[in-house]
Amino acid sequence: MTADATQTAKTKVTALPGDGIGPEVMQATMRILEAAGAPVEWEFAEAGARAFERGVVTGVPRETLDSIAANKLALKSPLETPIGYGGKSANVTMRKYFELYANIRPVRELPGIQTPFSGRGIDMVIVRENVEDVYAGIEHMQTTTVAQCLKLMTAPGCERIIRAAYGVALAEDRQSVTVAHKANIMKLTEGMMKRMGEKVAREYPGIKAGQVIIDNCAHQLVIRPEAYDVIVTSNMNGDIISDLAAGLVGGLGIAPSSNLGDQVAIFEAVHGSAPDIAGKDLANPTALLSAAIMLLRHIGAFGVAETVEQALYVTLAEGRNLTGDLAPRGHGVGTAAFTDQIIANLGRVSAMKSRVYKKLELAAWPKLTAHMEPTTRELVGIDVFLETDLDAEALGKTLTAIAEYSPFNLTGISNRGVTVYPPTGGQTFLVDHFAARFMLKHPISLAGSSSEGQPEISYLVQRIGAKFTWMHIEKLQRFDGKDAFERPQGEG
Ligand code: NAP
Repeated sequence: MTADATQTAKTKVTALPGDGIGPEVMQATMRILEAAGAPVEWEFAEAGARAFERGVVTGVPRETLDSIAANKLALKSPLETPIGYGGKSANVTMRKYFELYANIRPVRELPGIQTPFSGRGIDMVIVRENVEDVYAGIEHMQTTTVAQCLKLMTAPGCERIIRAAYGVALAEDRQSVTVAHKANIMKLTEGMMKRMGEKVAREYPGIKAGQVIIDNCAHQLVIRPEAYDVIVTSNMNGDIISDLAAGLVGGLGIAPSSNLGDQVAIFEAVHGSAPDIAGKDLANPTALLSAAIMLLRHIGAFGVAETVEQALYVTLAEGRNLTGDLAPRGHGVGTAAFTDQIIANLGRVSAMKSRVYKKLELAAWPKLTAHMEPTTRELVGIDVFLETDLDAEALGKTLTAIAEYSPFNLTGISNRGVTVYPPTGGQTFLVDHFAARFMLKHPISLAGSSSEGQPEISYLVQRIGAKFTWMHIEKLQRFDGKDAFERPQGEG
């Protein structure tokens, strides 16, 4: 008996038919699910191009957000981000609004889809952190020539995505979880993900824990992709390698994904709205259908999920009535005929077995501002970012003189992260954006009050501001005796 053989109550799901080919692939998916007896009922809602056109700047009307919040589940077709309507992405709006922090992208070789990697047995899941990192979109022009994007990664953000990856491994009976990172260069941000991976791994002795530097991960994904099981990584790394991995098994056109948060889960096709083929009965619904299969497993409808998946596998393996993107040139059929073929194959079993799934359990995160107070906190210096067209030598001498009667010493100046003063002999190209590091002659304990150190900082910054345009200041702190900052390349 399948796990859902007795499931009769229907689960309400918000359906977003979306733009371009969206309504066609949504209709195909719904027809197949209905024919399979999936225990879902749909509540239609709007998002994307039409919402932008009627002036909803986020692309997602309030009624749609309310529907998703109430149902806690959505199946979403691709949404256009039209140029000229404020530029926000409706997809990103939903991801951030519902704090959908875990993007789950299964990558499995499908029967009948020939790629250079066919027969290798690729079957992995990429778990991508979905809301932090450089995708927080915190950007500033520092000078007219220098742009800055903050890469924000947090301990709870790293912890919950690593825990989600282990949750996926347990739910899918997978053997290993590999943290892919760039901790060799970004020791604090990417290093946090790596260290959190090591910490959480200790709680799962039955699952093999691995780590790999992200560029090598990209290389390994091409050389021996079958070696990976679950890969967990930060937002931008995951954005890139999940597309790479999808390419190994047939491309974005067939790739599904889920976006999971504490409350809400949104399932979607990875491809876009393909406006060039919209309304022509040409679109392949495989990706959205596969996302719907993920949704069915999410609600515990394992049996019907497998029935639909097997019908899809049989259809792809037999190669009859495939859409034009999959069929040999000139032999493609329309979306509707492909859908009919899958429906006709419901109940048949493919040579390619479905995996066995259990319900994915995600830890619930407390509604708190995440805060961990160190036992000791010291102010040891400041970095002042300033704009000048002086050369490094002249700037160094000027700032040394400015700091002379202050509680700070100038210890170095860097340009784009490379030490340029004191001179190192390096051949750094200079832009008009320097970071001057001033270390306190006597570190100040910040244990008593947050205002300690401020008179010292104000005194120095005022003196600097009299001569230079500065754009930001970073406090250099030491938490529990450990430097909470990195050193520029070439320092010392
Ligand atoms: P795209 O819509 O994925 O289309 C690229 C090409 O891929 C299409 O022209 C088509 O190629 C093929 N394709 C994609 N899905 C297909 C399917 N289901 N069946 C058959 N062929 C398919 O990418 P795009 O042109 O870069 O983006 C178009 C719009 O989609 C943009 O507004 C973008 O913002 C949006 N978008 C939305 C999402 C989302 O909602 N998650 C994701 C990505 C992009 P052929 O030319 O060979 O027919």
